[in-house]
Amino acid sequence: MATTHSLGFPRIGAKRELKLAQEAYWKGLSSRDDLIATGAALRAAHWRVQAGVDLAPVGDFSFYDQMLDMSFTLGNLPERVRGFTGDTLDNYFRVARGRSAPGAGDHAEGCCGGVAAGEMTKWFDTNYHYIVPEFEAKTEFQLDPSRLLAQLAEAKAQGVKAKPVIIGPVTYLALGKAKDGSDKLALLPRLLLVYAELLAVLAAEGVEWVQIDEPILVTELVPGWREAFERAYAALNSGKLKLLLATYFGALKENLPLACSLPVQGIHLDAVNARDEVTALIAACPTDRVVSLGVVNGRNIWKTDLEAVLDWLEPVARALGDRLWLAPSCSLLHVPVDLANETALDPEVRSWLAFAVQKLDEVRVIAAALRQGRGAVAADLAANRAALASRRVSSRVNNPEVKAAVARIDPALGRRQSPFPQRAAKQDLRLHLPRFPTTTIGSFPQTAEIRQTRSQFKAGKIDAATYRAAMHGEIERCVREQEVLGLDVLVHGEPERNDMVEYFGEQLDGYVFSQFGWVQSYGSRCVKPPILFGDISRPKAMTVEWISYAASLTDRPMKGMLTGPVTILNWSFVRDDQPRSVSCRQLALAMREEVLDLEKAGIRVIQIDEAALREGLPLRRSQWQDYLDWAVECFRITANGVDDETQIHTHMCYSEFNDIIASIAAMDADVITIETSRSDMELLDAFDDFKYPNQIGPGVYDIHSPNIPSEEHIVDLMKKAAERIPAERLWVNPDCGLKTRQWSEVIPALTNMVSAAKTLRATV
Ligand code: GLN
Ligand code: ZN
Repeated sequence: MATTHSLGFPRIGAKRELKLAQEAYWKGLSSRDDLIATGAALRAAHWRVQAGVDLAPVGDFSFYDQMLDMSFTLGNLPERVRGFTGDTLDNYFRVARGRSAPGAGDHAEGCCGGVAAGEMTKWFDTNYHYIVPEFEAKTEFQLDPSRLLAQLAEAKAQGVKAKPVIIGPVTYLALGKAKDGSDKLALLPRLLLVYAELLAVLAAEGVEWVQIDEPILVTELVPGWREAFERAYAALNSGKLKLLLATYFGALKENLPLACSLPVQGIHLDAVNARDEVTALIAACPTDRVVSLGVVNGRNIWKTDLEAVLDWLEPVARALGDRLWLAPSCSLLHVPVDLANETALDPEVRSWLAFAVQKLDEVRVIAAALRQGRGAVAADLAANRAALASRRVSSRVNNPEVKAAVARIDPALGRRQSPFPQRAAKQDLRLHLPRFPTTTIGSFPQTAEIRQTRSQFKAGKIDAATYRAAMHGEIERCVREQEVLGLDVLVHGEPERNDMVEYFGEQLDGYVFSQFGWVQSYGSRCVKPPILFGDISRPKAMTVEWISYAASLTDRPMKGMLTGPVTILNWSFVRDDQPRSVSCRQLALAMREEVLDLEKAGIRVIQIDEAALREGLPLRRSQWQDYLDWAVECFRITANGVDDETQIHTHMCYSEFNDIIASIAAMDADVITIETSRSDMELLDAFDDFKYPNQIGPGVYDIHSPNIPSEEHIVDLMKKAAERIPAERLWVNPDCGLKTRQWSEVIPALTNMVSAAKTLRATV
């Protein structure tokens, strides 16, 4: 009874081995064979770790992204890389990362060897980004099962009980973009032929179960897409193998009857987020169907309350018998690999946590308790009970003063002194900026030396004075470079920050840090979300010293750089013992103190990044407004205590704003910088004159790609922007921070950007 399985395992490796291998390969420091070998070694290691579950995923590993893998499996390559005759893996990376033309090619063109990167966007409500499949009316698909077959062969050779994992056709289509505006659904029949072929190939390999991920089922389906599900699964039900339809990240709600009606052999439900639906799902499912329940949270790092799970699961298990499968709620891609490596973590807090490896062990314990009775795992259950009890009563978690401050929050805290037009006039007088002012989003290249200095300091190998001097040196370099480039509003460059959230978390009470708690964000980019475990407070100023030093080096306006409360929240592992909104208000009060301290120190432009505001949106629209209301309230609490003359900026990346523009406007930042370059300024449609009243810096080049934008390209984009927004309200900036780039890329790119601004001043 109760087959256990895993929907997916983190691919980056416990010590980010994949990242190191990818980056070495991209830099030409290692061979293709080295990279391939690292991939194989990681897969083998991950299957070994998953040996405790009955079925392990195959095909969840990726050299960049699982959606891009699927595009290659389906032969859906963008036109611009189709003629490529070189190595397939290189072509794959061309789509993932883009490629500059040798010479001065324009970054969006396919000429002269340059290739634009595929658009990237967030995977549901996670901080993982996938490469958006591109479609056109004429798109044809062609199966390439080689990746899956090779991994399947490896798994078999290792004796793994393999369950291939693929993205389902409806989710694949729904998450893609029709480049020519055509109807994506028209492609479904063609797409299904290739899916059917793929399943036949897997069946011929002796595969019994395939996990077919359709997380789109937890969102509100647009008309036409329910029928797409019906058609798709009727077509894929060949009887040759069994399909486990995997849904995760939320409840099925109105799609539950649809999901249950599809001719598949099993269905996976996220029983953490949709526990309430378990009974309805079982009632609606045909009695021969496997019901897989995700009972361990695949999105957070807290230990599961095993006995509480068993309390509700035992009767369910008795009813379902062999039809019950157990798993984490979703792929473990979204949690760090192994808590065992966290030797430096506070032992008490550590005892409350579970990473991927530990979560699979929780699944094992739950299954064992169901199979053999709780007595068989009494020691595991007792340890779990003790850990949870210590967390509940810990005085480190509960700080009465913070709770009282949150209770005292008053709407006046979130209001500026005057409306935007009056503030803008005062800020003009103070800042004296030209039209089309230029700025950057905050970070400058994080060179190997910077990283090394930071890690030496952390490891206690250099003292505080040495560290400070080194960072001052970096800040000075950055300020000088910006002066030479001729930028208008400067930044200090963020050399002291490992990560825009971790940096603040480290200085706030209520947070702890892992050493190896990395989670993939996109490609080789990993983040190490801090762990928000207790009530939040700010013992002392966090950024004032660095920013003031930077400001002292120049006459130009220096922009102070902070991360906003909503982003800190959304990029942290947060508490599961209080609502997110409460944790966010605590963060807002702490960050407000920092804003006011910066202002006191004479910093008159302050950027509060809310890069992750949009991604915190609940998956269902019906729940959006509630989230937006408290998110905007929190931003306003943080930002709006300043004088009229102080200019508040905010920054958001990868955001689509159409549907949330009223809330973005309600944040009332004086300037917002946004990601737009990859979408050719289309995103700005949301910001036209009527809907967004304040100033806007639409990102003019894609910092995720090494491509250097040409001046003409930037001028062109800004002219498009000026068709939508009055020129007086436009800023010129890249579309995100430059930390992942190299100086050799940044200098020419910003040189072109600054000359573009000059051209614009003269011509628009
Ligand atoms: N200020 C941050 C930086 O430049 C913003 C990063 C982000 O929005 N992701 O790195
Ligand atoms: Zn950004």
